[in-house]
Amino acid sequence: MVDSAKSYIVVGLFSLLYAVTGVALGQDTPSRAIEKISGDLYRFQNNFHYSVFLVTQEGIIATDPINAEAATWLKAELATRFNQPVKYLIYSHDHVDHVAGGEIFADTATVVAHSNAKTDIVAEQRPTAVPDITFDQQLTIELGGKSVELSYVGRSHSDNMIVMRFPDERTLFAVDIIPIKTVAWKNLTDAYIPDWIDAIKQVESMEFDRLVPGHGEIGTKADATAFRGYMEALYQAVLDAARAGHTLEQMQREIRLDEYSAWDNYEEHLALNIEGMYNQIKLHRRGN
Ligand SMILES: [Zn+2]
Repeated sequence: MVDSAKSYIVVGLFSLLYAVTGVALGQDTPSRAIEKISGDLYRFQNNFHYSVFLVTQEGIIATDPINAEAATWLKAELATRFNQPVKYLIYSHDHVDHVAGGEIFADTATVVAHSNAKTDIVAEQRPTAVPDITFDQQLTIELGGKSVELSYVGRSHSDNMIVMRFPDERTLFAVDIIPIKTVAWKNLTDAYIPDWIDAIKQVESMEFDRLVPGHGEIGTKADATAFRGYMEALYQAVLDAARAGHTLEQMQREIRLDEYSAWDNYEEHLALNIEGMYNQIKLHRRGN
């Protein structure tokens, strides 16, 4: 959800504040859970962040560790419930709030990510394990007779976002690229528009029924189409307003996308989404 060294510092400060106030109020117990999605595929929750893992007879394929404390909890739960080590750990993208804590699994796991993610993880010193294996377009990981297909769908919420398809479960795990019945996060930091819209079209062409996000409730492929519709409507509204010479402040007052008013974060983030889109369109108009 967040990116850049700057955001990492902000998250760090927030965590510190949370820890301090949590201790003071006696409310520092995070909300963690494991729920079965289908077959041998499970979802792991740590407060507002989620990842998935697949259990096989030869070990576990895990995804975003989220943070060191969450990963430590998950590792103990996996040992107790399944008595299998984590053989692969796959990062969805480089953002620290999803990939931190990978070192907890690095004793048994091969760490996998997009090549651009490794670049950012190393350059911005993410507190996690550096990927052992990287890829540019596609990679299928097979273990214990099961598989997960990793696909890079182009630049979107970051320049290194991958989606993970679990064919046996007809499930796609897609973090931060397709919020479910939720507008985009704040001012689209680190995003690439309109590449993002094309990336969602690629996702829509894939074979799956269940769409599992990194935040919020599980959805379906129809939610991917709906979110693309939102992004296209936002892009067009801001582009039209920019061509008409409106300022950002005018756009934030005037643009309403009523079709999406019931979505999560609509009131909180629409003006920020407009700002993010406006910044991208200005870049295009200036030709850089
Ligand atoms: Zn992110």
